[in-house]
Amino acid sequence: SSRLSANPAYYTDSIWSDTKSSAVKKTFAEVYFSEASSVVSAVEWRMVLGKLLSSSGGESLISLLEDKVLHVSTEDLLPANPEILDGVDDLMQLSYLNEPSVLYNLQYRYSQDMIYTKAGPILVAINPFKDVHLYGNDYIEGYRCKSLDSPHVYAIADTAIREMMRDEVNQSIIISGESGAGKTETAKITMQYLAALGGGSGIEHEILQTNPILEAFGNAKTARNDNSSRFGKLIEIHFNVAGKISGAKIQTFLLEKSRVVQCADGERSYHIFYQLCSGAPIALKEKLNLKAAREYNYLKQSDCFSISGTNDAERFHLLLEALDVVHISKEDQDNVFAMLASVLWLGNVNFVIIDNEDHVDVMQDEALSTVSSLIGCGLEELKLALCIRRMKVGLMILFRNLLYHRDALAKSLYASLFDWLVERINKSLEVGKCRTGRSISILDIYGFEFLIFEQFCINYANERLQQHFNRICSNWNRSFSLLRRYNNFHFSQEYIQDGIDWTRVDFEDNQACLNLFEKKPLGLLSLLDEESTFPNGTDLTFADKLKEHLNSNSCFRAERGKAFGVNHYAGEVLYDASGFLEKNRDLLHMDSILLLASSTCQLPQIFASKMLGQPDKPGCHPHRSSGADSQRLSVAMKFKGQLFQLMKAIGKHHSSLHTQTLVVQQLRCCGVLEVVRISRSGFPTRLSHQKFARRYGFLLRQSVASQTPLSVSIAILHQFNILPEMYQVGYTKLFFRTGQIGVLEDTRNRVL
Ligand code: ADP
Ligand code: MG
Repeated sequence: SSRLSANPAYYTDSIWSDTKSSAVKKTFAEVYFSEASSVVSAVEWRMVLGKLLSSSGGESLISLLEDKVLHVSTEDLLPANPEILDGVDDLMQLSYLNEPSVLYNLQYRYSQDMIYTKAGPILVAINPFKDVHLYGNDYIEGYRCKSLDSPHVYAIADTAIREMMRDEVNQSIIISGESGAGKTETAKITMQYLAALGGGSGIEHEILQTNPILEAFGNAKTARNDNSSRFGKLIEIHFNVAGKISGAKIQTFLLEKSRVVQCADGERSYHIFYQLCSGAPIALKEKLNLKAAREYNYLKQSDCFSISGTNDAERFHLLLEALDVVHISKEDQDNVFAMLASVLWLGNVNFVIIDNEDHVDVMQDEALSTVSSLIGCGLEELKLALCIRRMKVGLMILFRNLLYHRDALAKSLYASLFDWLVERINKSLEVGKCRTGRSISILDIYGFEFLIFEQFCINYANERLQQHFNRICSNWNRSFSLLRRYNNFHFSQEYIQDGIDWTRVDFEDNQACLNLFEKKPLGLLSLLDEESTFPNGTDLTFADKLKEHLNSNSCFRAERGKAFGVNHYAGEVLYDASGFLEKNRDLLHMDSILLLASSTCQLPQIFASKMLGQPDKPGCHPHRSSGADSQRLSVAMKFKGQLFQLMKAIGKHHSSLHTQTLVVQQLRCCGVLEVVRISRSGFPTRLSHQKFARRYGFLLRQSVASQTPLSVSIAILHQFNILPEMYQVGYTKLFFRTGQIGVLEDTRNRVL
């Protein structure tokens, strides 16, 4: 059931046959391979592992599984690694670095439940989609006292703690990858480790309990992940001098608000709605006039109410406990539930065409009266707020506008509630005013996705993160003093300890793509903002502007209609500008804000005053006051601001980079191969003198005077004419450039 095997395999490992019999190289062949008929045809493209039997004139003879022998073009072959490198725990150690080799290695480990692999400075994790028994107290203890040293999130977290304590420098751990890759789980596993080592005061329980709360309100079932986070999260965990957790702070980004009012078939809205509907005790249900989830338009539109293996009612009770733990009073909890119920009931508010079809009015029914009592406002005020007047448009358009207007209120109620909750949690976890140099931040942000506005912003964020990452990597190549701090970069430590020098390599920069987004006035964000402020601006006029001004930019590609392409570091992404302006403006009518302000309940009042008091907050830009309009910050600009703060924060820190990836597309997106390739421009393959002498010593034609492993090793290197620039001799190990070991292995296989 793993993603790796569910995906059409890039190669198969089933033909790793015995190679000792002949002098052959293991090779990945690019062939057309049809499994059904076992005949090579153009059905499916795969890289398969085979043996190279002979090669001449651009053609090679290879043997595959079941002794199938094929002629292929030599160009289509890639070298595979010798068997001793099977399953190495750092991809840096591979002699040949190509995609099938990397996948082979990951698959090899994965099949033995080794889901973590290092890729130089990065930890690659592959989602096991099952219990892998790699976690818990025994493992935590093992990594703490260093009796375990295989790649693991715990090892990353452990390094972060140690470096933080030793150097008094804040650390950050960045988790990236596609939806469903396991980022949020990984963040939780990291938090568990930090809580176990830094626990004691009890605050660690509070910190861990924020997870079920934020997941209930910010996660939903999507097509790809039953528990998909629909917001980005940065949690900063603070420690005291003794290394104990003293508090934490959570920052969230870009909650997908639109999910509250619409979601695709088979997906769900936020978990909390279903949990509330099925788990609320009778008294609460009565108080909120709560019905089953199927009764609500917002929930029933996608025709999916449950998640297999998840009991919403049970989750609701766990949520209540978690809310208690973070000190949210019973009264506040009830207020929260009233807001949730009002959002659900708002979706059931409908409109009728009356007076012989020249007027649309709010339907006066149970939905309307329940919303009014839950929000704590008068029925008439609510009706007024929901009806847009002064509109000279066709009835159907008016009707649609009214629904849109209603949905805008529901979305902003929900988003305000989410923000309020995060604020309350932060109060409970309060970090003292004095910032120490002792914090570990964990960033869990969703990865590259396609098409819609939020994802446009997220992809921009990833582009920024990538630059941060690139800079770290090139810095880290450049300066040994910085390098020393990255304890988790095993290989670099090894170089230093073994007295090896290595050359600096520059990282490819993604500045061009960032410029495309950020340049003023002719960048994507500026143009989006400009168009958003024009009353007559539409998604189409926005798309046209882009084409007019950005066509010469190499990272931009004009497409037909409202579509445009951006060349991200992870590959080209095609965007559809539909809805961009509306989402970027994110306006809520002044009527709606005033309605909330007039409420007799606490939460709507708080929401309204935030909306009125902080003009930089999205979702709160009064329509009518044109003065405020021109000063307001759009969603994209606000996000850009948050992002810059974030980069400032993690820029100061020392980051352990940590990427979740699955198949090769994802490895490419995360730049894993690139990092490894660059990191490897040093001497990636290393073997101790002992191991090297033992493995190849018997190939020596002349015996060596001194039989020390070092002198045997040197003699072997000479005999095989390995060029001096291809290796370096360290105190304890030999370091080789890519491919060198392969020659020795081939000879060894031939002789054996
Ligand atoms: P993401 O945050 O990247 O979208 P999640 O962290 O929500 O992905 O993971 C999706 C699902 O994959 C989880 O609900 C869980 O079932 C499974 N999963 C992820 N990581 C692990 C792991 N380390 N062990 C077991 N299952 C995991
Ligand atoms: Mg997630």
